[in-house]
Amino acid sequence: MMITSITIPFPEHLGKGEATHIYLIKNEKIILIDTGLDSKENRIFIKNKLKELDISVIDYILLTHGHLDHFGLADYLQNEFGAEILIHKLDKDKLEDYRNAIKWFDENYELIIEGGYSKEEISEIKNKLISTIEMIKLPRSFKAYENLRLVIGEKVLTSIHLPGHTQGSVGYSIDDKIFSGDVAIEGSTAIENFRKEINSLQKLKFFNYIYPSHRKTPLTRSDIEKLENHFIDRLEEILKITKNGMKLKDIVRKIYGEKIYENPIRALIPIRQVISYLLYLEEEGYVIKKGYLWISTKETL
Ligand SMILES: [Zn+2]
Ligand SMILES: [Zn+2]
Repeated sequence: MMITSITIPFPEHLGKGEATHIYLIKNEKIILIDTGLDSKENRIFIKNKLKELDISVIDYILLTHGHLDHFGLADYLQNEFGAEILIHKLDKDKLEDYRNAIKWFDENYELIIEGGYSKEEISEIKNKLISTIEMIKLPRSFKAYENLRLVIGEKVLTSIHLPGHTQGSVGYSIDDKIFSGDVAIEGSTAIENFRKEINSLQKLKFFNYIYPSHRKTPLTRSDIEKLENHFIDRLEEILKITKNGMKLKDIVRKIYGEKIYENPIRALIPIRQVISYLLYLEEEGYVIKKGYLWISTKETL
């Protein structure tokens, strides 16, 4: 079995200097884990790369989740190399209509507005987001699964459900290796649901080689522990700063600073991140919400 990591750069307007690692597995079948963002340059880049690796057919494109930087080139590659595209059923709505990837913000709209963000501010970000979304090329055909098991030569590849970053995030495991998408990124990772994320990180620790989609790869168990500690530090920080009560917007500012994110997809991430921390702390009885203020009831975890 041969595993090749290919790094697909982000087009500049979507995140300068960033990239998605995708993984090609060659073993009787040809499997590509994720695809990276679509652009004219990236199409040429991936085509040349696959040619170099002597690949003329791809059997499967396995998506770790339904985010653009993972499925962007899927439609193009399916056309050129004939791959079947597979995704976990809880993320399939994003491939049907990418507006579903941002419905989280509609569901939490009240919380965001009463948290101190103006309707204009949020709708400006959302409009930018929607104009980005309208340019996206969704894969024309794909299949959704709940559990995936593929026999490839003498190896077995299995999907492992790792919700937290998105509901339908998965890792693909072979032996002691796992291709883990965005569940764990060195430093920090964007989350929708904190409790699920923490559970998913536990599952990653069973593997010796953890191949994420961004930044350092592979990650080790100790990198996962560092990430857990980072999350705990964030929770502790929130408990401290909300001692006398604080609005959502002020908490976000305190943690992330005044930095304005030009990329609309990024602009909403800090808000989502802080809300997921707060909802977890509320469930656990560490903070309460009084009107528009979040107030910690304990100073430490
Ligand atoms: Zn993602
Ligand atoms: Zn990603």
